[in-house]
Amino acid sequence: MGDHERFWSKTQSDPEGDCILWKAKRNRDGYGVFRWLGKIRLAHHAAYELEHGKSVEGLPIIHSCKNRACVNPNHLQLFTEAELHTLQIKVGEQNQGEQNPHSRLSVEKVRQIRKEAANGVKFVQIARNHDIGQTTVSRIVHRKIWKGIT
Ligand SMILES: [Zn+2]
Repeated sequence: MGDHERFWSKTQSDPEGDCILWKAKRNRDGYGVFRWLGKIRLAHHAAYELEHGKSVEGLPIIHSCKNRACVNPNHLQLFTEAELHTLQIKVGEQNQGEQNPHSRLSVEKVRQIRKEAANGVKFVQIARNHDIGQTTVSRIVHRKIWKGIT
């Protein structure tokens, strides 16, 4: 069986949308995993590579559908860290003048905030650490905002 065939045999279409769901093994974060060329790879990364024929190892790939188990190449967007950063600056600029938490946060901060919450730091303390509101902390931790950042 070829790689393409083997990969797609582990998927099924989503009855509720146009996602293609990974039905084999998933990791702790809910992403599909696929053993390929002797390595354990993220299934959505493998889907992107099979579709586009280039290596994306270690690069951030965002699910436009927010569905971590999805491997539909049309729902996968590749970003370099630099592009991701630029995107965030744009979001910040668009919302200038408004009280928008996006403009004051970076990927690193969001990751740090989620890490602190996972380690049991109270939201009020996290809010103080990062000079943001408690509501924003809660929305970040519960993935109401910055959902694409993992
Ligand atoms: Zn999808």
